[in-house]
Amino acid sequence: MPAPDRAPTEADGYFQRISRIDDGVWVIAQPQPFQVQPIGNVTVIEQADGLVLIDAGGSPGAGRRIVELVRSVSDKPVKAVAISHWHGDHVLGLSAIAREWPGVQVIATDVTASHLAGRSMKAYPKGAPDAALQAAFDQRLDGADGFVRDMLAKPELAATERAGFEAAQRLFHQYRDDTRDLYVVVPTRTFSERLRLDDAKRPVELWHPGRGNTDGDLVAWLPKQRAMVTGDLVVAPIPFGFNAYPAQWARSLAALKAKRPAVWIPGHGAPMRDAGYVDREIELIDRTRAAVAPLAKAGLTMEQTRAKVDLSAERAGFVGDDAWLSRWFDRYWTQPFSDAAYREATGQPIEQGEG
Ligand SMILES: [Zn+2]
Repeated sequence: MPAPDRAPTEADGYFQRISRIDDGVWVIAQPQPFQVQPIGNVTVIEQADGLVLIDAGGSPGAGRRIVELVRSVSDKPVKAVAISHWHGDHVLGLSAIAREWPGVQVIATDVTASHLAGRSMKAYPKGAPDAALQAAFDQRLDGADGFVRDMLAKPELAATERAGFEAAQRLFHQYRDDTRDLYVVVPTRTFSERLRLDDAKRPVELWHPGRGNTDGDLVAWLPKQRAMVTGDLVVAPIPFGFNAYPAQWARSLAALKAKRPAVWIPGHGAPMRDAGYVDREIELIDRTRAAVAPLAKAGLTMEQTRAKVDLSAERAGFVGDDAWLSRWFDRYWTQPFSDAAYREATGQPIEQGEG
């Protein structure tokens, strides 16, 4: 167990909380939306015969907290969990949820289901814990811990960076506890384009709007509440640009906007009551593509292009002059999304890999 002084503090905003979005609709989110090891938001929707969850948190520990938070708002069982995409911060809490409600249906697009069952999640045990794979995971966590320690030894860190890495150290300590007995729960029900979970008051339309953040993105549309649950197609304050499909991402967001949502529930960050942030994200995608395309066409390599792309104005628009958030904007957006835009501009396939 962690020593108390190494656990995350209240100010770290690591532990999820539940808040009401509408009658019978809640979101479970981290109060501090930017975390080095984030936990995906979970949307809870009450239907007549049970609860539907969109996403499942990022670890068994996060899943156990989700179970408690769900129990705090409803006595109904969780009957279904729909997974927005295959990345671990949205799926690895499923084991704790399935333990609490063994009959739960796990829904994903067929593309996401094959990622979860296959090579993309090969580092994780399937269906039950596995000592060897857990040991390898713990070793990677040691590596991440070591990286944070090395960073904290650098005297030139800005104050916000030092505070950020200190918080990351506390977070990794908790994450180590949260990720004991880690395993992937494979989906039990899949679809390719649309699946409706009908209900008199709160029907849920699960929808694959096309490729974007991954090749199998699932969003959930609540037509009566006009709520759009986006997965990581929308992430605040810093979008995640890994292994993305740039042009298709912008098209997917435009398709979501066409439904005219009254509330947006992003994959990370607080719910939004207008499309302002989504517009900024579409603009960021377009500007990044526009910055990369001419460099790629001029024959630069991916590495040269990544080094030359200047998104400092866009970065300032998202995170201001905060050195900590600027660092992660570069690592979570500028670098990976430039690479994706380069692949797009030069006709190379996007590889989905470890998440
Ligand atoms: Zn995520």
